[in-house]
Amino acid sequence: MNHLLKQAKRVASECECGHEHQWIEMDELQLGRNAINYLPEYLHEKGLLHVTIVADANTYAVAGQLVAQLLRGRGIDVENCILKEQGALTLLADEHGLGQLVIGAAKETDVFLAVGAGTIHDLTRIASYKFGKPFIAIPTAPSVDGFTSMGAPVIRDGVKITFQTQAPIALFADLDFLTQAPRSMVAAGFGDMLGKSTSLVDWQVSHMLNDEPFCPAVFHMTKSALTMCMEHADEIAACNEQGIRLLTEALIMSGLAMLIFGHSHPASGAEHHLSHYWEMAFLRSGGTQPLHGAKVGYATMLISALYKNEARKKIETFQGEGSPLVNSIHKHRERLLMLIDTIPESSDIQRLLESVGGAVKSADLALADSLEDEALEKAHKLRERCTLLYCLNEHLKTS
Ligand SMILES: [Zn+2]
Ligand SMILES: [Zn+2]
Repeated sequence: MNHLLKQAKRVASECECGHEHQWIEMDELQLGRNAINYLPEYLHEKGLLHVTIVADANTYAVAGQLVAQLLRGRGIDVENCILKEQGALTLLADEHGLGQLVIGAAKETDVFLAVGAGTIHDLTRIASYKFGKPFIAIPTAPSVDGFTSMGAPVIRDGVKITFQTQAPIALFADLDFLTQAPRSMVAAGFGDMLGKSTSLVDWQVSHMLNDEPFCPAVFHMTKSALTMCMEHADEIAACNEQGIRLLTEALIMSGLAMLIFGHSHPASGAEHHLSHYWEMAFLRSGGTQPLHGAKVGYATMLISALYKNEARKKIETFQGEGSPLVNSIHKHRERLLMLIDTIPESSDIQRLLESVGGAVKSADLALADSLEDEALEKAHKLRERCTLLYCLNEHLKTS
């Protein structure tokens, strides 16, 4: 078992912060070159001898067919379910994608193998759950931190809904596959990680001002993952093996931190709310959806600029009083300003994103300028969360 999983399990069982941590069912995590070679033995140990590989044409070519070959050579029965794009649109976690999976899955399957990036994992997560079967994560790109998540975001009738389903029972992150990922997906994973520089501040704000749950050990796990990415940005930008390994480790660490915490607070703050806002706009317009991490990375630049300028000034000069939240802002003024100081400058986030080839302006995401301002004004309404964006829009601006 990999040290990341051991660390997460230790926090889940030993942390005495008072928060009710979630136990991790996952019992195997392999990360490295040839990590996939551990899979046949794992399946035999568990008696999971009939598998369905879920992939798309690209991920099947890079990884799926090798996995199928490896398993068949070890006496495991393999069914392939290759998901297709919908006309000109990319594969989405929606009714069409799920329909393909339900039709393509073999009835006698013991376990599903998600061989792909975020969308393949979301589809496999919800379908396996509905079939009452476990699934195993085999990421082919270090593009998101949600591989180990329980939540499956699915688009139904054009609207995104997140269903609580199941986490994978095991994860095999093979660097032979991951190092072949397109640069845009590496940049997206890096963007999703940089998002923690504002999500961790929002989490502390929500705990301080609104008594939302908090765990120092989970905070530390997520913060370490972020620091690792920022310190090794050059290697990640070079897409060399060490860079891809570190980014993958950071994404897995962030995902496990969320899993044991049982809520998305550590990894998702106002920058993710902006990203969700844009995602819904793209769904309505039918435009090509930019990668999750590409939106999050750019949103992190905007939130950093907003927090370090307007929010900082408002907090410094804020005179309102009355509601419990307003009183709390008064009481914690100094601490709030200190938290804002821990956020990297927007220009530094931009430089890091640029070095990896990530989106750094609205045009890179094909995002209308009006949607940028609109999201900054309204995105906090999407989630019940006391972020600094919420405080700014609902309380500080009116003072
Ligand atoms: Zn994310
Ligand atoms: Zn704790």
